[in-house]
Amino acid sequence: VRLALRTVERALSSSFLASHGSLEVRRLLLTAVHDHGGLSGYGEAAPLHSYDGVAMSDVRDALEDCRIVLAGATLADVLDATARAELLAACERRAVLPQALAAIDLALWDLVGRARREPVWRLLAAPAGADPGAALPTITVNWTITSPDRAGAAREASLAREAGFATVKLKVATGDDAGRVAAVRAAAGPELAIRLDANGGWSAAEAPRWLEVLAPAGIELCEEPVAGAEAIEALSAGAPVALAIDESATSPAALARRCADAICLKIARCGGISGLLGAAAQARTLGYEVFIASTFDGPLGIAAALHAAAVLAPDRACGLATLGLFADRPDPLPARAGAIRIPDGVGLGDELVAWYD
Ligand SMILES: [Mg+2]
Repeated sequence: VRLALRTVERALSSSFLASHGSLEVRRLLLTAVHDHGGLSGYGEAAPLHSYDGVAMSDVRDALEDCRIVLAGATLADVLDATARAELLAACERRAVLPQALAAIDLALWDLVGRARREPVWRLLAAPAGADPGAALPTITVNWTITSPDRAGAAREASLAREAGFATVKLKVATGDDAGRVAAVRAAAGPELAIRLDANGGWSAAEAPRWLEVLAPAGIELCEEPVAGAEAIEALSAGAPVALAIDESATSPAALARRCADAICLKIARCGGISGLLGAAAQARTLGYEVFIASTFDGPLGIAAALHAAAVLAPDRACGLATLGLFADRPDPLPARAGAIRIPDGVGLGDELVAWYD
């Protein structure tokens, strides 16, 4: 199969602020594998340098290093589960970067789905013994609050509640945390779950105090309050809110023992659907609750996460309702009443690639 790459830039509707910086334009790398018979599968690479420290140029180089490996594989290899696993392992040895491996993994799953005329989630469910005739699942998702000020955050919380979301997520360690959390709680009412994400922005010394200050508002959990699995583990003893590991979810410490209540997994960082399901199984064995989130992924990345979620059955609302944050493109996978329907077309889903044009 032949590899093809195309860089895509998409503007966000408004600048998004987190403790690691602000984001206005998202760059993604559309990744295709073309079979000589005319079938194509599509994935994307979605590194975000301010968040994961991985540069797009390095991901592109890593994918170029896989070109020769993919060129030696036929569609029959891709369709055979064992040969496909070997192909992916060969790509992993060359690519090293999980963000690059994810792009290939997604494109191969999409190609398999297109060849078999099945959505990816059904291909994933079949080996696990799930009923292939089961109803199309939906995945519960959170609303992501993007407004950096109290009034805007409160307005979004009201909109989220009216739209039927049960969970909103708010960035913290960005300034005025207590004021914004209080405003969101006031607007959200008592029922809505409020999830915080510090993106590792608090120091180990200040994090306990911040959690004590914010906990009375009623917090579902806080993602990555401090940077690193060991630091989160140390903080979690006696913490007044549940903690989740996100940025450091794939660090050796995080998957050696349970360091927090929950773990947030991402398609790009786990090396794709295959890697995410493996990490999720390992995390569940250790006793973590598992959920999935995106880092402003495009529709192919979001769809991949939804397919994985369909077989994983996440324990908490997933951070996958982020396509609506892009400007100039209708959301091809919109949330309804706080849940997203898994794409039921072939492969990762129909009409998703058009978003990248
Ligand atoms: Mg996070």
